[in-house]
Amino acid sequence: MPVLSVVIPFLNESGSAERMGAFLRRLESEISERFQLTLETVLVDDGSRDDSILAYRQHLTGAWKIVELSRNFGKEIALFAGLEQAGGDYVMMIDADLQHPYDVCIQLIEELIAAPDLDVVYTVRDDRKQESLKKDLGSRAFYWLINFQQRYSVPENAGDFRIMRRRVRDALISVRDKRRFNKGLYAWTGFRQKGIPYTPDERIGSVSKWSRLALIGLSVEGITSFSVIPLRIFSVVGVLTGLCGLLYGVKITLEVLFHGIDVPGYPSLMVAVTVFGGFNLALLGLIGEYLWVGVSEAKDRPLYIVRNIHVPEGDRAP
Ligand code: UDP
Ligand code: MG
Repeated sequence: MPVLSVVIPFLNESGSAERMGAFLRRLESEISERFQLTLETVLVDDGSRDDSILAYRQHLTGAWKIVELSRNFGKEIALFAGLEQAGGDYVMMIDADLQHPYDVCIQLIEELIAAPDLDVVYTVRDDRKQESLKKDLGSRAFYWLINFQQRYSVPENAGDFRIMRRRVRDALISVRDKRRFNKGLYAWTGFRQKGIPYTPDERIGSVSKWSRLALIGLSVEGITSFSVIPLRIFSVVGVLTGLCGLLYGVKITLEVLFHGIDVPGYPSLMVAVTVFGGFNLALLGLIGEYLWVGVSEAKDRPLYIVRNIHVPEGDRAP
């Protein structure tokens, strides 16, 4: 029977372990009846500080393993570690906090199996409409920037909650980017993809781990590892302001020569100094961001370290 691997990264989710156990049991019996699939569960402990592993051990049944990372590496890397361990013909990724509804999981499997031409079925959150205008504009700008002049397109609000065929999983783990921005990688690897809308459930257990600042950080990471457009924009702005400065210089020289008009000194100097100083600093910071991506790649550290792999019979050395 073909195997479906479910990859679940978690950080301090002991509160939802019991329900996750029940969720997986239900999934296991339904997919074996309806799709003749067997289930393999790959959990990734992304440096939890609570007794999540113990809780999962108590509530998991069937074929499962828990890859315990040596510390918190972030969800993007944890997912990658899970993909590397997933041996199934299909791989589905879900969150540990049960925000991804059971019915949508089934729908994902159904859609992929029904369409041999498809390689990926991903989900698009449709609850983001109520979000503030400011946030919406920010997210628009982000997607415009990351998709501008690219040969692929990152769909808006498409997350990690998706199912893929094995060849897509192989492609994803062949990309060894150190600073990983999954949404970009999913689009970059290509394949035939289809999106379906869904509304996430309320989260169970703990609170969301994404602060506003962390989201901004992730966006910067996405942009700097996938797009050179910000640098180009700054180059264009630099050339334009330089040209304006030049024209202004010509204008005041002519005025002095032909009309004897005094050049207003201090205010125009202050404007020039602050504007160019600001641009310079902003561009330096931006170059630094790109440099940081380059440095991370050059150091060539492993993407993550495994502390232990837990399996039903006990532990297995990583
Ligand atoms: N998570 C993780 N490592 C982290 C942060 C989160 O593995 O550093 C897991 C978390 O346990 C959950 C999933 O990633 O299973 C999504 O996290 P969260 O629910 O906080 O994000 P949101 O639902 O708000 O997008
Ligand atoms: Mg969540």
